[in-house]
Amino acid sequence: MNYFVQLCALAPLCGIIIMSINITNYNNILKELNGKATLVAVSKTKPASDIQELYNLGQRDFGENYVQELADKYEQLPKDIRWHFIGHLQSNKVKYIAPFVHLIHGVDSFSLLKEINKQAIKNNRIIDCLLQIHISKEETKFGLDDSELHELIGSASINQLTNIRVTGLMGMASFSDDMNLVRSEFKNLKSIFNNNTLLSTINHQLSTLSMGMSGDYKIALEEGSNMVRIGSLLFGERNYSK
Ligand SMILES: *Cc1c(COP(=O)(O)O)cnc(C)c1O
Repeated sequence: MNYFVQLCALAPLCGIIIMSINITNYNNILKELNGKATLVAVSKTKPASDIQELYNLGQRDFGENYVQELADKYEQLPKDIRWHFIGHLQSNKVKYIAPFVHLIHGVDSFSLLKEINKQAIKNNRIIDCLLQIHISKEETKFGLDDSELHELIGSASINQLTNIRVTGLMGMASFSDDMNLVRSEFKNLKSIFNNNTLLSTINHQLSTLSMGMSGDYKIALEEGSNMVRIGSLLFGERNYSK
């Protein structure tokens, strides 16, 4: 029996609390962000108790990918958590998170924006959204390409959506060891973010650039990210088979 197993067995007896979150990484990341970027702790597939541990250290922004899981956790956890929806959102599920969601990161169609607006009106709130831009070479990632982005923000009716606010952009770089590729993809997103003529069409100030995950957030920060979405460095590897 190794040490860890022994410790786990004894924990209930002697009151040792075994943390499943990585506090060292958490503190290091906060230091690196240095107040210049928001940390969204990505807690998908992780139990509410892990979220509560990080919450107890002061973390308030958490990110989830699945609607049902997010709705359940919202019920169980403190109400001052800012919940970020970072997955691919289906229109027919917007209603389940509209009452409380803080920011929706992955918006990539006008019809989804319209549905978010509709549900926001029903809940008498304004919902902030980020447009997801396709920056990676990979086919599977969601997001708008250049022409789709132009089409979406060029559509006159976007400003008639009174209860949504497009506050920024989100993107995912290629899942690759080629850090030059990753960096160039982040650079590309930053340049779209900075392109005022394109984005002044939207009547809103673009302030949030959501890019960077556990494997590439340092590069993302160097390239101008002000919101990183970090999961496995904080909560450990995810196990989807459970
Ligand atoms: C899961 C996920 C993350 C976090 O990934 P890690 O590599 O665990 O940090 C960030 N962004 C999105 C969109 C995700 O789906």
